[in-house]
Amino acid sequence: MLKFLIFFGAGYVLFKLLTGDKKKKTETVYKKHETMAAAGEMVKDPICGTFVPKDTDIRVKNGDQVHCFCSFECRDKYVEQLQNGEQPKSVK
Ligand SMILES: [Zn+2]
Repeated sequence: MLKFLIFFGAGYVLFKLLTGDKKKKTETVYKKHETMAAAGEMVKDPICGTFVPKDTDIRVKNGDQVHCFCSFECRDKYVEQLQNGEQPKSVK
């Protein structure tokens, strides 16, 4: 009986830990991306501010600058702004 109680208790603690982790996950992923950005592995999408891997295929060359995007939608917006002669808005 005691063994069963210990087992049940351990299971409950584990369950609590797992459910508590889920809330933190988004935050952790964002922090991880920020660290990667600092290391130069991730770059910020200039349209929406999302961190994207530096080796993404969705990129636009503007002069000697290369901008990476999270989606074709963002890339199209950026290209549109360039074609309109506007300085693309950058998210900082
Ligand atoms: Zn984007």
